[in-house]
Amino acid sequence: MTTPIPKQLVVYDFDWSFVDQDTDRWILEVLSTPLRRELQTLNEEGKMQYTDIVAHCVAKLQATVGSSRQEIEDALRSLPVHPAMKRAVLALKAASYPQTTLFCLSNSNQVFIDVILKHHNLTDLFTRITTNNSHWNEDGKLIITRRIAPDAPKQHGCKIGCSANMCKGEELEAFLAEKKLAGDDYSRVIYVGDGGNDFCPLLRLRSTDLALVRKGFELEQRIKKEGGLKCQVKYWTMGWEIEEHYAEGGIARQL
Ligand SMILES: [Mg+2]
Ligand SMILES: [Zn+2]
Repeated sequence: MTTPIPKQLVVYDFDWSFVDQDTDRWILEVLSTPLRRELQTLNEEGKMQYTDIVAHCVAKLQATVGSSRQEIEDALRSLPVHPAMKRAVLALKAASYPQTTLFCLSNSNQVFIDVILKHHNLTDLFTRITTNNSHWNEDGKLIITRRIAPDAPKQHGCKIGCSANMCKGEELEAFLAEKKLAGDDYSRVIYVGDGGNDFCPLLRLRSTDLALVRKGFELEQRIKKEGGLKCQVKYWTMGWEIEEHYAEGGIARQL
């Protein structure tokens, strides 16, 4: 009798987790310092929802600075990805034990993530990318909208601080439920994240699951201040340490 190979799910936040920068801030830093400042100021004022602020700044970048699709895509392609993070995920995909599914759960947007993954030949890495909506319209302008529109009949019901555009905890649970119905039950979930909005999904992980938390960012502070996690927690600073965690934890290996 052969024992079935266990399946695991590796969930990646994108900004400052999978990639070594923040996509929204980066393109403004590359293309317009005044708009980078505007993003900062609007965010600190706290009157506008964050995805709406990014949409506003990107629209203004195209309308007033005149940045083209090519320039925006070039800016994304210049965004740093740690070579060890790339190696680590490719090893996960290649390993035969356990079988790994990769799921990207991000507050960036579809176009930014697609351009970066394509540039690194990683288009097929993630089974699913759940993020904000974006597309190039017929005038060649990038339009960004919230994952949950402000006028959508069903808003998320999260009470622990997720922004109105998306609750990552609810999105993770929906993905797990959908996969379970299809016969994929993950014996372990590993979550790689850094941001305050990664706290909600971590609260929903089990004692057999693992959070890989980037040091020095808001997620670390929320874990220390608010607590309540059942999952194991390990910390990392740079991509090469993720590679070590995967190797040490038997997260990626060949049978
Ligand atoms: Mg992040
Ligand atoms: Zn939430």
